[in-house]
Amino acid sequence: MTGTAVVVGAGVGGLAAAIGLRRAGWRVTVLERRAGIERYGTAFALHPAAQDALDRLGVGEAVRRRAVPYRSAQIRTPGGRVLARLPLDRVEKKAGKPELLLSRPYLIDALLAGLEAFGDVPVKAGEAVTDTTELRAAHDLVVGADGIRSVVRGDFGTASGPRNIGSVAWIGIADFESGLHGETWGRGRFFGLTPVEPGRTNWYAAVPEGTTADDLPGLFEGWHDPVPRILTGTDPAGWLRYEMRHLHPALPSFVHGDRTALIGDAAHAMTPNLGQGACTAVLDAEALARAVARHGVTGVPQALRDYDRERRRTAQRTAFASRTLHRFVSTERTALRDGLARLLPG
Ligand SMILES: Cc1cc2nc3c(=O)[nH]c(=O)nc-3n(C[C@H](O)[C@H](O)[C@H](O)COP(=O)(O)OP(=O)(O)OC[C@H]3O[C@@H](n4cnc5c(N)ncnc54)[C@H](O)[C@@H]3O)c2cc1C
Repeated sequence: MTGTAVVVGAGVGGLAAAIGLRRAGWRVTVLERRAGIERYGTAFALHPAAQDALDRLGVGEAVRRRAVPYRSAQIRTPGGRVLARLPLDRVEKKAGKPELLLSRPYLIDALLAGLEAFGDVPVKAGEAVTDTTELRAAHDLVVGADGIRSVVRGDFGTASGPRNIGSVAWIGIADFESGLHGETWGRGRFFGLTPVEPGRTNWYAAVPEGTTADDLPGLFEGWHDPVPRILTGTDPAGWLRYEMRHLHPALPSFVHGDRTALIGDAAHAMTPNLGQGACTAVLDAEALARAVARHGVTGVPQALRDYDRERRRTAQRTAFASRTLHRFVSTERTALRDGLARLLPG
């Protein structure tokens, strides 16, 4: 016997969970507060483990069609001197596949197409959930995939909430290919460049809170090419301001009662420094669906426990590491930081 599930939120985590649950034979409904599925956003990293999870959800091939491999990246000083190399080759050797980069719209499209292929999973836009009581009464499983400001998390009775870290990121995609990729570390700010698709470059500038788009060219003036070229040569109207926040304190459990689970940012929103936001959301979604498939509708409480055991510590460790890396990179004490970076293997 299978059950009914409602997924709150149609972001990466929610769409992936809906696919997994539907593949397990469940009847699934997705509720999304926005008027439509938002297809904006820049690039996501997809680590090999997340690619494997997407394969298990049946959308790995579609994702790989639009993704590009990420094989070479360096840490640089603003003057362009290389401090360290990211060990992407080791990741690839160990996993037998490279890390990938993909634009958010393509990942959302691939997940939506995977869901639409079933033909019977309603994704109801313009449905902002404010209270889960009715959802819990009407469904065997409620999945909170509603992001960092999760309403579903309100049921958990914890003090966890979004915490600012004093930085904001301006992000965008430039219409030319950068010859170099990785991060450039300055004093209290850093700039990242990654591939995203042929002919384009994904970039992000992490700067102190309060920095406006107008301030950016001045803050990165004199940095190596193509940093100033991006900030003076691309239209600021296409840039996105991205809040760098994390969930604090960490949740004691990702599950509540006998039918509610949190996934993705709702469970463990993290700073983007390790490029793990989308990966962890996909891993959570697939792990939850797998546990539910294993235990069936009568075993939902056990499935929730299994899911929490499989994902909570790992995801929270990743969130902690990401935040720690952010502090390290955005320090004002650059000599110590750069010296340590030179010691990095790789
Ligand atoms: C439009 C958008 C653009 C983004 N762009 C980037 C980017 O460029 N780079 C980057 O690193 N990260 C970006 N992110 C964040 C990134 O997608 C997430 O950090 C990560 O993928 C985890 O996804 P998630 O599904 O857990 O949460 P989210 O992606 O935040 O998705 C949560 C979803 O739940 C919906 N929702 C929230 N509250 C309710 C409610 N009460 N009722 C119903 N629905 C609700 C939201 O509208 C959203 O669609 C973006 C997120 C969004 C929503």
